[in-house]
Amino acid sequence: MRIGILTSGGDSPGMNACIRAVVKTALAPGTSCFGIRSGFQGLILNDIHPLGRDDVRYILHRGGTMLYSARCPDFMLPEKRQLAYQNLAKHGITGLVVIGGDGSFAGAQAMEKEAGIGVIGIPGTIDNDIVGTEMCLGFDTACQTAVDAIDKIRDTATSHHRLFLVEVMGRHSPAIALRCALATGALGVLVPGTHYDMAQLFAALSAAKARKKLSNIVVVAEGEETGGAALLAHHIGRHFPEYELRVAVLGHIQRGGSPSVTDRELGARMGALAAEALMDGKSGHMTAYVRGQVCLVPLDTAHTSKPAPNQDWIDLIAKLGA
Ligand code: ADP
Repeated sequence: MRIGILTSGGDSPGMNACIRAVVKTALAPGTSCFGIRSGFQGLILNDIHPLGRDDVRYILHRGGTMLYSARCPDFMLPEKRQLAYQNLAKHGITGLVVIGGDGSFAGAQAMEKEAGIGVIGIPGTIDNDIVGTEMCLGFDTACQTAVDAIDKIRDTATSHHRLFLVEVMGRHSPAIALRCALATGALGVLVPGTHYDMAQLFAALSAAKARKKLSNIVVVAEGEETGGAALLAHHIGRHFPEYELRVAVLGHIQRGGSPSVTDRELGARMGALAAEALMDGKSGHMTAYVRGQVCLVPLDTAHTSKPAPNQDWIDLIAKLGA
């Protein structure tokens, strides 16, 4: 059997660890592996190359993806997908591991339906917002990177009695903001999906001010729904002129860097399971992390959710950050 592997959509730390696991699992007799560069674009352009043990040496600890990633609007077009099927046939590839988000999974499902290609998805997104798995590849590292940065910001906030509003990624997902706010003892958090109780944050700021604690951290998820850290700074500045305000936008550092232990573990376990599943003739599934186990769930149940922020978390952050 010949297995293809590609990474698609936004990159996330742990993708390389996962590629390595797929390739090494596919070293079994009678099986071989091919890397497809730049996601679905590589399928259309026949950018497909054999991948062996030596090709995946020294990549486990590296961020990004050695196969490159891309968004490929052309793959939405049936005639372009026909080119992909022809290219796969040229290489004799009958099964595909697709690491990405639910857009990439939609592309994989189209291939299964139209051309009978065996497909297994692996959830890779720092937003951790795919239904069916408790953890997506990259989320843990992105949180660790943000927490490391916020810890450094905390030093200067304390030294200068400043209030820092730290903007993290998560335009449509509260996951990074909630976990990082809890982990850094933030005074409050602002995430999409809630009509954030500004009164609650303002009360916390008033209480902190009364205790003469002017150095504080508030974590804000990026995007239109929250308005980002800049808009919040505008509101707070109007009501609390005594706070010396600073905004820090963490941006793309959250996507990169060496994967955490958790993401290496997830990459290894999910990659191995995905390759084994294809070799066993399975298709149409996503690898998932559920209660400590890595398992397979049907791909058609795996989609990006817009998770409602957990109010318990928001309350705990407020309680412990005060
Ligand atoms: P993610 O996989 O992170 O959700 P995108 O939504 O950008 O990222 O999707 C990645 C790629 O998957 C797209 O650029 C496109 O090539 C492919 N794709 C997305 N939706 C479909 C679809 N309905 N049919 C075919 N291919 C799709």
